[in-house]
Amino acid sequence: MKSQGELTQAIHYLKLALPEMSKRNIPTTPQNYAVWYEYIAGNNGALRKEIDSLIKKGADFSGKINSSLYQKHIEGNSLSAVDSIRTEVRKIINDLLQQFSSSSDGLAGYGEVLERFSENIESADDVDSIRFLVTELVNQTKEQEQRTRDMQSSLQKMAEEIQSLKGEVEKLNMTATTDGLTKVANRRFFDDELINACTHCHRNHLPLSLLILDIDHFKNFNDEHGHLTGDKVLKFVATIIKKHFKGKDTVARFGGEEFAVILPETEYDDALIIAEKVRQRIAKQNLTDSQDNKTLGSITISIGVARFRGTESTDNLVHRADECLYAAKRQGRNQVIGEKSISTVF
Ligand code: GH3
Ligand code: MG
Ligand code: MG
Repeated sequence: MKSQGELTQAIHYLKLALPEMSKRNIPTTPQNYAVWYEYIAGNNGALRKEIDSLIKKGADFSGKINSSLYQKHIEGNSLSAVDSIRTEVRKIINDLLQQFSSSSDGLAGYGEVLERFSENIESADDVDSIRFLVTELVNQTKEQEQRTRDMQSSLQKMAEEIQSLKGEVEKLNMTATTDGLTKVANRRFFDDELINACTHCHRNHLPLSLLILDIDHFKNFNDEHGHLTGDKVLKFVATIIKKHFKGKDTVARFGGEEFAVILPETEYDDALIIAEKVRQRIAKQNLTDSQDNKTLGSITISIGVARFRGTESTDNLVHRADECLYAAKRQGRNQVIGEKSISTVF
């Protein structure tokens, strides 16, 4: 949970970013918001410098400039910028909601009024001055009620804004990490995740296995049935692969008709077993095109399996899984080959 100070600061950034954007007629899209949040937070030196110089020049923050700022400083800056905004926003929402029940700041002034009232009433010695004090107190109380209502509704409004912002940022993050066609992780996410998973497993002396899967003779399939039908098959293969993995595993589209699966905390032998299950499941499926009920026959996949050695680079690991995949292709396709069963280059 964020400390009160950090929360106040995050809300402060949120509040400052919006007027800065509206002053310059910058639409409040998630991308633009990410840029201006980073600008206000001041953690990104290059971004800050560029915006400051644009402001100094009196530049028009056109769509082109805005999207170039985003691409250069946020998107190009790895996923972590989006990630950190998302985490930030999630924390703010939780903490903001808690604030509703303990909004002590706004009540401080009213406490003073009450204290003053009890002091004055002690020294009041006639009915008129007591009546005056009571009237005063009633007025102050009404004002306080209004202030509390205002504060609550502005907090409420802010929480709603943040809620919708959170949704937008989630969406943005999703597009940045997911393959549009198959909805599994994209290559960029895979690359980051493989490094994270290898670091985690190496540090904790845990095994890690990697699978690379490739559809056999997919070019022929496309030639025979068309690219659109090919796309449907890619989606089908992705769905079947996903069904076989869960938890810490990452299924990703590695390239055109290739997928990869990171299996942290998984022994090599177990990875071979699960790879074989996926291979069999896909091979046994009779494919039909639901649009015209045409039978498409079946497809097969080849799979390479490698075991992380702890001190090697992720490139090395990927290279070994790839070598195994090509050994599977050479040996006739529709099979799983693990690194321990081939002797080349290792
Ligand atoms: P191999 O068994 O050796 O893997 O043969 P292959 O034909 O699958 O391999 P090759 O590398 O020669 O061709 C890959 C094919 O995958 C060619 C390309 O049209 C197809 N492909 C790649 N990405 C997509 C895609 O997004 N949609 C469709 N429909 N096809 C794709
Ligand atoms: Mg292929
Ligand atoms: Mg291929």
